[in-house]
Amino acid sequence: MSPQPTADHRLPTDTDNGLLLIISGPSGVGKTTITRAVERAIPGAVFSVSATTRPRTPADVEGVDYRFVSDEEFDRMVAAGEFLEYAGVFGKRYGTPRAWVQEQLRRGRLVILEIDVQGAVSVKRQVPGAFGIFILPPDEPTLLERLRSRKRENEEKIQQRFAEARREIATARDCGAYDLFITNSVLERAIDEAVNAVRSRLRR
Ligand code: 5GP
Repeated sequence: MSPQPTADHRLPTDTDNGLLLIISGPSGVGKTTITRAVERAIPGAVFSVSATTRPRTPADVEGVDYRFVSDEEFDRMVAAGEFLEYAGVFGKRYGTPRAWVQEQLRRGRLVILEIDVQGAVSVKRQVPGAFGIFILPPDEPTLLERLRSRKRENEEKIQQRFAEARREIATARDCGAYDLFITNSVLERAIDEAVNAVRSRLRR
């Protein structure tokens, strides 16, 4: 299965002025759900599949959520300049595929990057017209509760993610990479807010 449009497949509606959309937020904030909802709501939107060295979980689909690669393969991709940006997150590496993103933008697509704050800063520097959205939890106790309810990690890991989330939120506010902060209290409302913001940015 090919989850991403291939280079030789141009849609008749494609133009040459795509938009790069960055969506970030701490783990457990619902950002993947919001990202995928935006992808479905906007015609021609495509999700950029990052390469990562982190192990695949049972919930991950290779080539849809990530391309899972070895450390050696990641090193090779870095050396070959294949990443638009890459960063270390929780001790593992993640990178955005440069050529694929550029090709989709050339075709006029909305290209969605679900990346961390370091990645967002790097992308904004290279593509100042990128639109950045940061998803916030309603408050800290709710974030902690959501991290626990995912049942993905033990309490020590959950506390690490929680501390990291607090730092990430502070950095996001200061770094200037985000055009919009959306608080995810009620999921449907957060999705509407994100979709409406992207639609109005596309109309500009
Ligand atoms: P997870 O392992 O939970 O899927 O993702 C961990 C973090 O890595 C999330 O904040 C996610 O947004 C970020 N991430 C995923 N792909 C990339 C990427 O290509 N570049 C950067 N900088 N961060 C990424």
